Amino acid sequence: MPNIPVPQADPRAGFLAQRSRIDIAIIQVIESGSYILGQQVQGFEQEFSAFVGVRHGIGVASGTDALVLALRGIEVGPEDYVATVSHTAVATVAAIELAGAKPLLIDIDPKTHTMDPAALTAALERPPGRVVAVIPVHLYGQPADLDAIAAITAQAGAVLIEDAAQSHGALHGARVTGSVGRIGCFSFYPTKNLAALGDGGLVVTNDDTLADHMRALRQYGWRERYVSEFPGFNSRLDELQAAILRVRLTRLEAENQHRREIAIAYDGGLQGLPLALPIRQANTSPVFHQYVVRSAKRDQLQRALRLRGIGTNIHYPVPVHLQPAYRGRIALGDGGLPESERAAKEVLSLPMFPQLTDEQIGRVISGVHGAVAEVG
Ligand SMILES: *Cc1c(COP(=O)(O)O)cnc(C)c1O
Repeated sequence: MPNIPVPQADPRAGFLAQRSRIDIAIIQVIESGSYILGQQVQGFEQEFSAFVGVRHGIGVASGTDALVLALRGIEVGPEDYVATVSHTAVATVAAIELAGAKPLLIDIDPKTHTMDPAALTAALERPPGRVVAVIPVHLYGQPADLDAIAAITAQAGAVLIEDAAQSHGALHGARVTGSVGRIGCFSFYPTKNLAALGDGGLVVTNDDTLADHMRALRQYGWRERYVSEFPGFNSRLDELQAAILRVRLTRLEAENQHRREIAIAYDGGLQGLPLALPIRQANTSPVFHQYVVRSAKRDQLQRALRLRGIGTNIHYPVPVHLQPAYRGRIALGDGGLPESERAAKEVLSLPMFPQLTDEQIGRVISGVHGAVAEVG
C-alpha cells in the first residue's frame, strides 16, 4: 500500500487532539448569550498574559491588528519610521503602513534568520527620518537577538515591539518572547503554535497607561460604552475564539516540547548532508514554529521531496521589499538586503507539527536523504 504523503502542516490534527473539550467550549459560548468581549475573552487575556509573564493582555481580531494596535498605541505619525525585517510574513510590514507610519527594512543574520543587530546599528546611524520603533520578528519560533536589539533600540530612543506571532512560549534567557519589549504582538492564525479556529490576535504589555490606551483604541476609543474619548477602531477577539484558545493553551507547552523533540530527531537524522540546519543559540529555547533547512538547490530538492510524498513549504518565497506592492518605494538599510534575498531562494520548511508520528519523522528523514542524493 503506498504511503499517504506527510503534510508540511496539519492544523486539523491539533483540533482533533482536543476535540471533546473544544466542542463543549463552543456549546458553552452559544448558550452564554455573550459573543463579544465577555468572560471568555477576559479569561483568555488573563491566562495568556500570565503565560507570557506580563500584566496586561488585549485580544484583537488578528496578528496584523495586534501590530497595528501596538503602533497606534505609541502614536506613530506619518513622518515616523518603524524598523523591521523584510524576511517575514508580509503582515509585519503591512501593519506599519496601516498604522500610518513608514517601514525601514533591515537585513537578517543568515544563521538565525532574524534581524541582524549590526545592520540595525548601521541603519540607525544614517536613518531616512525619525525612527520611533523597532520590531524584531522571532521568525520560525527562534528568538531574535533581543539583548543587542533592545540596547540599540533604547540608545536610539525608540520603542521595542516584538512580533511574536511565530514564537508563543519561546524563551530568551528566562523570559518568554513578547515580554521583553514594551509591547509583544501575537497571532492565533490556525497554523500558529497556539491556534484559533479562525483569526485572532493579542497584544501584551507591562505598561498600565499604554494598556488602558490600547484597550480603548481597540473599540472606538471607548473607556465607557458609547463615549469615544478619541478616534479608535474596531478589532475584537470574539468569545468563541477565546474559549477555544483557552482549551488549546492548556496543551501549548506540551506541544512546543513535542516540536522540540521532532527538531532534535531531524537534527540527528539530517546531520552530514549538504544542508544548513537550524542553529541553536545559547541561552534561548526556540519553539520550532517551522524547521527550516537551507540549500542552494532548494527548488530541485522540494520537487524531489514531493515525489517522495514529503510535503514542504517556503517561508517566504519573495521578501517583502521585492513584492509588487512594496518594490522600489520602501526604505531599506544601507547596502540593501542581500541576506534576505538569498534566504528567500534557499529556505525550505520541512513537515513540523506536534502530531507528527515517529513513523512520519522517519519517512521525512529518509526522504530528505534520498532527495539530496538525487539532486546531488
Ligand atoms: C502570522 C503572522 C503575522 C500576522 O498574523 P495574522 O493573524 O495572520 O494577521 C504577523 N507576523 C508574523 C511573523 C506572522 O507569522
